[in-house]
Amino acid sequence: MIVATSEIHRLLQWTHRYAKLGLPFVTPWQGTPLSDVHWVAQNHSLLQELGLDEYFWATYGVLESLSGNQIFQGMQPHASVYSGHQFGVWAGQLGDGRALWLGESHVGDTYREWQLKGAGKTPYSRMGDGRAVLRSSIREYLCSEAMHGLGIPTTRALCITGSPDAVLRESVETAAVVTRIAPSFLRFGHFEHFAALGQDDKVKQLADFAIEHYFADLKDQTDAWRGNIYAAFLHQVVQSTARLMAQWQAVGFCHGVMNTDNMSILGLTLDYGPFQFLDGFDHNHICNHSDHQGRYSYANQPKIAYWNLFCLAQALWGLIKEEDLAMQALEPYQIFFPQALDEQMRRKLGLIDIQEGDRQLAADVLACLSTERVDFTIFWRRLSQCLKDFSNHLTPTQVWQPVLDLFLDTQPIQSWLEKYTHRLSSQNIQVASQMMLKTNPKFVLRNHLGEEAIQKAKTGDFSLINTMLHLLHSPFDEHGGYDRFANFPPSWASSIEISCSS
Ligand code: AMP
Ligand code: MG
Repeated sequence: MIVATSEIHRLLQWTHRYAKLGLPFVTPWQGTPLSDVHWVAQNHSLLQELGLDEYFWATYGVLESLSGNQIFQGMQPHASVYSGHQFGVWAGQLGDGRALWLGESHVGDTYREWQLKGAGKTPYSRMGDGRAVLRSSIREYLCSEAMHGLGIPTTRALCITGSPDAVLRESVETAAVVTRIAPSFLRFGHFEHFAALGQDDKVKQLADFAIEHYFADLKDQTDAWRGNIYAAFLHQVVQSTARLMAQWQAVGFCHGVMNTDNMSILGLTLDYGPFQFLDGFDHNHICNHSDHQGRYSYANQPKIAYWNLFCLAQALWGLIKEEDLAMQALEPYQIFFPQALDEQMRRKLGLIDIQEGDRQLAADVLACLSTERVDFTIFWRRLSQCLKDFSNHLTPTQVWQPVLDLFLDTQPIQSWLEKYTHRLSSQNIQVASQMMLKTNPKFVLRNHLGEEAIQKAKTGDFSLINTMLHLLHSPFDEHGGYDRFANFPPSWASSIEISCSS
């Protein structure tokens, strides 16, 4: 059924640039209706950013359309094909098995793609049911917005709708649909798909599309690449991916399924499954209970991103053609990533200038945290706050007491704090502390918080989702009265098992 109201048409002028590529890139498709759909969550600030007002939620047809039950006038839903390497092995064709591209809306001269996740089977669903459960939809919704609040590039989440329809996972759960928003949902896997089929003309079509719409500045920057725009394109993806990895590592974010089909060509965090923000710091932490080898452990993420970039380079090989240019595009990852991480760590430590030994200072504090599995978020926040109190005529021990309280054996961290204090002596402490309080968040979406919001939502009470969205949208603010959301995880948190099942 097509909903034709002039109001929706006025609110949303749809464009369909990717869909215009047509077959074999996309297949026109429609959602499979869910029964008795209702709102679970509405992201008011994102709605505003999209140039829409609150009236939108109540507009006739919106709830049904964002559940995949109807089509807005002007919407042309499509599912796209991609392939990918999963857990290091070529997996062949995958595609939007439960995602539906609705089209793009525009605000000023920028475009935003809208995608439903969980709206039913598509031609690419393989053995899947095309659905997403309420549990995983709440996790994706809150985490996308948490990442945005932290200033980390990500796809966004506009809303969740729910239905009592049963969905079978490890147990029977209920269905939900997330509306995701991004400038583009193109993945490394889109390119790999056509390269694997030996269709370099299609890879070229895809790359030309991406360059025209998302990398338009590249056209003036090809001199350094002997005019080879595809090498320049690869290089841009390398840079944005390196920056993204540094941001993930610095905030203690584990993605959990860094398959090449979950890698965005825009360097966005994409596809929220078994992700986790670290509680106690452990370099080798594995957040995905299906990842038995630890391929996607916290420590491995930057290396895996590089591996994935090689896959993208291979897919673009038929276009780049010159080996030295491909390597020139790829290899700087090994410089960009450590540089970007150094920059992140300097901000976390409140270091305004660059000095030799800063990298070691950061490595040393992580070693202290690792030995005792100290809570990552709380450590950095306390360190930032202690620095704020530095000028209050306290002895060093008094100043650092809240940090020292996090350790059983305080000797190693005490000697690190001495070195750190010495390093800070050449700069304005208040400036440093202000920078740290804007870098080291008070609130992250810990697993147990997500779990609490989920358990409450299962009883029909969605209030915690809104509370958490509010906190996570400004995670560097103190939010007096909400301290419990910034506390240590309860003991049951370590028994939460998050797998790929979603
Ligand atoms: P993911 O692990 O969520 O990135 O998914 C990997 C691939 O499986 C993608 O092609 C997804 O679209 C597809 N997929 C995951 N879950 C489902 C599902 N329930 N129904 C259909 N396809 C799915
Ligand atoms: Mg995926």
